[in-house]
Amino acid sequence: MSIPRYGQPLGARETEILRLVSQGLSYGEAAGRLQPPVTENTAKAHMQRVLTKLGASTAPHAVFLACQAGILDGRPRRHGDHAGYAAHVYRGEDPCEACWDGERAYRAGRRAARRAAKANPPKLLAS
Ligand SMILES: [Zn+2]
Repeated sequence: MSIPRYGQPLGARETEILRLVSQGLSYGEAAGRLQPPVTENTAKAHMQRVLTKLGASTAPHAVFLACQAGILDGRPRRHGDHAGYAAHVYRGEDPCEACWDGERAYRAGRRAARRAAKANPPKLLAS
């Protein structure tokens, strides 16, 4: 398997796992629905590649981005944010100006959040 990169189109199995998980199936259940079936760990590996390709941080985030991009349901996309940018990239288009602006703001926000998390790690255990 090649190393997944942000902006690469999803493979058929990746799209299928994402579609099944978006319908509420567990990874184990989704794995059993693929033809041929795969293990739960393989299904999770597919989802990890989906996250990378879509620039998503969690599976629900990936489902949201995929919906915005029309990957799951073919709904019209919107412009001006990370989801719009991802939709352009997924379709092999150059992002429009509005989506570029939104993507820059999104990346700056992610960088700021990472810096803040580094400077002030969450304390999970109160003492
Ligand atoms: Zn756009």
